[in-house]
Amino acid sequence: MGKLIVGNWKMNGLGPALAEAQAVAAGLGGSLGGSGVRVGLCPPATLVERMARCLSGSSVLVGGQDCRAEASGAFTGDVSAEMLSEAGAVLVILGHSERRSGYGETDARVAAKVEAALRAGLEPIICVGETLAEREAGRAVAVVSTQVRGSLPQVLGGRPFSVAYEPVWAIGTGLTPTTAQIEEIHAAVRAEMSAVLGASGTRAPILYGGSVKPDNAAEILSVSEVGGALVGGASLKSADFLGIIAGAG
Ligand code: PEP
Repeated sequence: MGKLIVGNWKMNGLGPALAEAQAVAAGLGGSLGGSGVRVGLCPPATLVERMARCLSGSSVLVGGQDCRAEASGAFTGDVSAEMLSEAGAVLVILGHSERRSGYGETDARVAAKVEAALRAGLEPIICVGETLAEREAGRAVAVVSTQVRGSLPQVLGGRPFSVAYEPVWAIGTGLTPTTAQIEEIHAAVRAEMSAVLGASGTRAPILYGGSVKPDNAAEILSVSEVGGALVGGASLKSADFLGIIAGAG
């Protein structure tokens, strides 16, 4: 199956940044034909509709970075899955470590958001990952396995989704795990996905995220069970993002 490469712009990007998204679409052109690589960009909520409009007709998928579990209501400042979908999103990142740590999102909350995403027809990207303290305590596999078990609701069975393994200590730091460490965690994630979801847990891609750059992408993407990448900082510049995508072909 082709890899899935998704850019997370986080809280970056005003209107002019859409030129970068258009450059990604132009750079892909027909060059991915046959390789089956799927490419997505998740801008801030304010840009989802404009990005979807300016990328319509291209192969680039647009996504949100989070959603509320409820469809509507008195939740000042939040965005529902239905709203993202109406704006043109087809993907949504859920349970990113910046939301787990900054907003106290629990596995149960993430699972409820995954259900909301499916209800709205979005393809969720469910993030998990250990902190440095957890890794140093020898608990990385246990922590990540627990997150997978708690964040993946049964209704995912048969629906398109992916899990992103993002070690917290590798996000935005320039640090990356060794390929052996990535392989170990991805194998544990796969085992847990299969235990929770049966056959569909054996198929959905497991992305790696955390300081993926053009110069390390090909090596990371060739690791067993790495089905793609979730890219933060390096997705803001089209040349860097295209360089990473080239590593997936
Ligand atoms: C992320 O936040 O999802 C991420 C992977 O960030 P970066 O690539 O900047 O480490």
